[in-house]
Amino acid sequence: MHPDLVSLLAHCRTLPTLPGVALRLLELAEDPGTDLAATAEAIALDPALSARLLRIANSPLYASATRRRVDTLSQALALLGLNAALSLALGFVVARTMQADRTLAGLHERVWQRSVLAATAARALCERLQFERPEELMLGALLQDIGILALLNAMPERYARLPDVPLQGRERLQAERDHLGGDHTEVGAWLAARWGLSAYLQRMIRSSETVETRDPTLGCVVAAGLLADLWLRPDDAHARAQLDAIAGPCLGLAPLALEELSARLAALAPEVATLFDVRIEREEQARQIEHQGRELAMIRQLLERQELAVARREADRLEARARELDELVRRDPLTGAYNRRQLEDVLQQAFDEADRAGQPLSIAFVDLDDFKRINDRHGHLIGDKVLREFSQALSRMLRARDLLARYGGEEFLVVLHRCGAERGRQILERILATVAAQPMAIVDGEPIHVTFSAGLATHGEEARFPDARAMLQAADEALYGAKREGRNQVAMRARDHAGAPGPPAIG
Ligand code: GH3
Ligand code: MG
Ligand code: MG
Repeated sequence: MHPDLVSLLAHCRTLPTLPGVALRLLELAEDPGTDLAATAEAIALDPALSARLLRIANSPLYASATRRRVDTLSQALALLGLNAALSLALGFVVARTMQADRTLAGLHERVWQRSVLAATAARALCERLQFERPEELMLGALLQDIGILALLNAMPERYARLPDVPLQGRERLQAERDHLGGDHTEVGAWLAARWGLSAYLQRMIRSSETVETRDPTLGCVVAAGLLADLWLRPDDAHARAQLDAIAGPCLGLAPLALEELSARLAALAPEVATLFDVRIEREEQARQIEHQGRELAMIRQLLERQELAVARREADRLEARARELDELVRRDPLTGAYNRRQLEDVLQQAFDEADRAGQPLSIAFVDLDDFKRINDRHGHLIGDKVLREFSQALSRMLRARDLLARYGGEEFLVVLHRCGAERGRQILERILATVAAQPMAIVDGEPIHVTFSAGLATHGEEARFPDARAMLQAADEALYGAKREGRNQVAMRARDHAGAPGPPAIG
């Protein structure tokens, strides 16, 4: 790395630093006397982290069909084992730290998508090659591109202006070295060293693009990245050639094994993506967006050649396509309702608008009752159909200015503009009665009915919330109350003027 780059990074005040819990985890990993109890104690201080570890212990990555659910952190750690738990916890914390930074959000997200897929692929490779300690390699694969994130953070404009070459591979490394004074594997390893991550991790990051390696564990990280590339872009010929170059000579894997690995990656990916809060289902859209990038380059060329009329026509067409794509990105593919990302974008806006206009705003969490039973009884395909039908029924009953978003799974959020609490309750109760009366699917001549529970929160009128997030929380608490009181009902979260939460009022 060029000394100027080192100095720039070392003095960059926006470069994320690891939080206390990560430092403690690193300390524990170094200490030969560390035991599960001390680790549990450190992790328990961080509720979000504890929840992730519980979740991963119960996920298909570790859970077996014969074992009981893991309910406590110490059970989870016992199941995962000390080293695995430390590696996984560290991975979560670093991911959280780096994800908080959103410089050049699109690029940032692409880097994380690939990293999370690579971590998943590393796990699949370890299974296949029967490597011990798969979590360490997962962590290496996950962190292999932190150098890109660091560069993005420290010099966003310069990074965005790099020549248009793929995010991975020799050309990119060369471009980074030529224009920035160091490539992202060097920067990643440098950052890892600065954070006090192990020398082994630093090595994995440093060689994460070295296809020529003959060290199988290092090669595993490289191959994991390439498998991720192919998952994202199945017809990436370059990645395929690189993978072939490392799979046989370094890892002893036959082409057939690579096919199996890709299948395993596809099976594990959704779970790992959820664990790391990364969306990876948008490969088709990502491809279209990339395609658009190429088209833009073409327009630029046309402009340079002064073929203005053609360029303008092309630009118009592209703009229309971009609008279409933009709409697609906002929608949940299964139900067509808005997705959670879109919701987060518009909810705070609606909140601010309600404040400005002095109008009440109501939101409601709507969660299907005992939905798991429908899946269990009729299978997921029917479950999907019910979700789609339900979402459509719900949206038909809302006013045009209201909004329906799928919050996750079988949970939806309804945003009722200019609507007070009492009116909101009436609307939801009417919807509940209508939905419950109408079959959502017919299986073997038998109608399937659903009910839901709803939690309503209203801003304005008697209660005021500091922000949209607090409102969401209140609606969630109200939903919990409705479930507790027996489901199939609408509950309101009452708040007094001082803003202190009162008991949920069941409507
Ligand atoms: P409760 O009344 O407490 O809400 O019970 P529930 O069974 O509805 O809730 P729980 O959270 O236990 O289960 C939700 C189920 O929803 C589990 C999950 O498999 C299913 N689910 C989530 N997303 C989808 C999906 O996209 N399609 C299908 N078919 N099922 C889904
Ligand atoms: Mg439910
Ligand atoms: Mg639910």
